[in-house]
Amino acid sequence: MENKFKEKWTLNEVDWHEHVPHHYHVSQIGVGHQDLSPDKHQGPCLRQAYYRIVVPKERDVGSEGNLFVGTTVHEKLQDITKKNVPHSIIEFPLFGKYLHVTYSGSVDIVKFKKKSFLPIKVNVCDIKSASEYTLPKYETDYNPTYFAQVYLYAYILNTFYLVDVFVQDLEIWYVNKHNYATHVITQKYDPKKGKEFFKDFLQRCTELDAHLQTEVLPDKEPMRWCKYCDYRMLCDSDCATEEGINVYTEEEIEKMYMEKTGKSPYWRGNKTKAYYSFKGGFKVEL
Ligand code: SF4
Repeated sequence: MENKFKEKWTLNEVDWHEHVPHHYHVSQIGVGHQDLSPDKHQGPCLRQAYYRIVVPKERDVGSEGNLFVGTTVHEKLQDITKKNVPHSIIEFPLFGKYLHVTYSGSVDIVKFKKKSFLPIKVNVCDIKSASEYTLPKYETDYNPTYFAQVYLYAYILNTFYLVDVFVQDLEIWYVNKHNYATHVITQKYDPKKGKEFFKDFLQRCTELDAHLQTEVLPDKEPMRWCKYCDYRMLCDSDCATEEGINVYTEEEIEKMYMEKTGKSPYWRGNKTKAYYSFKGGFKVEL
């Protein structure tokens, strides 16, 4: 199928994991959550994206492990798809340019319907590795941010690459990384909604770029996972760098936790629960 936009939209690939200014990955910029309440919004918030570029943190063993497991889960599911639905496209890279920013993303699976008359129908699928905790428990229990991402992928794919296909459904394949149990959530694709998310995405990319150029912090966008955010302390103090921040030791945090809750700081992962709850020096409510 001819791709009229290929040359125009093919840019040098940038490793978005490096978090560099002027180049943003779809999963780096949260969209469509500005009106959601903090208990529904799952980021990433623009301030967090700003911090990741200005105050990059080295990946610890835990995040390296998560990345490894995530990649393994993706490859496993993509291999299974290749065998069972051979006419699917695996890993469809997307690039684009808007004003002075470039953006990228990658569709995990473009699944062509087997018996499809013209226009050819496809589903756009994204794989998410999850834990027992984050795996959806029922049909409406899903992360809205994930669907916004799949919407963006479908819209960019259908507008600039596979312009002649009909995107029917969006699918998120949640995979429990502990036992490979899967849970698929499907939504009908609505191109109007896709366009809205895309406009929001471009607007937020340029907004982040302007914040980086002027060294002004973006507003906070509090959400469910703030208590696990690496930049919680900086964010609470409205600081752009670590200077002047009172960094508590883990022992001090545990003492504060025990004094305020009367409980022992039991372990969760490689830190105590006390660490996650009190790392800013106060109890995190979200
Ligand atoms: S603590 Fe919350 S609001 Fe602040 S940067 Fe992190 S995710 Fe954003």
